[in-house]
Amino acid sequence: MLVNIEMPAVEGCEAQDCAYNHDLSCHARGITIGDLKHPGCDTFTPAGQHTHETKRIAGVGACKVVACRYNDDLECEADSIRVGRSGNAIICKTFDKR
Ligand code: SF4
Ligand code: SF4
Repeated sequence: MLVNIEMPAVEGCEAQDCAYNHDLSCHARGITIGDLKHPGCDTFTPAGQHTHETKRIAGVGACKVVACRYNDDLECEADSIRVGRSGNAIICKTFDKR
């Protein structure tokens, strides 16, 4: 059985060392963001081998950052997000503290 759901799109990601990244885009089916406070990309997978799927655009499957104003009931309600670097961390750059 397949499930079709609408998810906020991951418009771009700076983490080119992630296995799901190709040409600054994320090609996972869905990603998970954060813990209850920090908006890190939980799906970040540092690896030399990269995904062969380069057409699919990832969605935000779940986000645990209740401190973000876009978060409702542990889900992201933004239209889209961008992911990038903050020091050594890979984070959701669309995060906006309540
Ligand atoms: S959004 Fe996360 S999983 Fe996707 S390419 Fe960037 S770091 Fe990797
Ligand atoms: S915008 Fe906010 S709610 Fe959406 S993924 Fe980023 S941190 Fe989570």
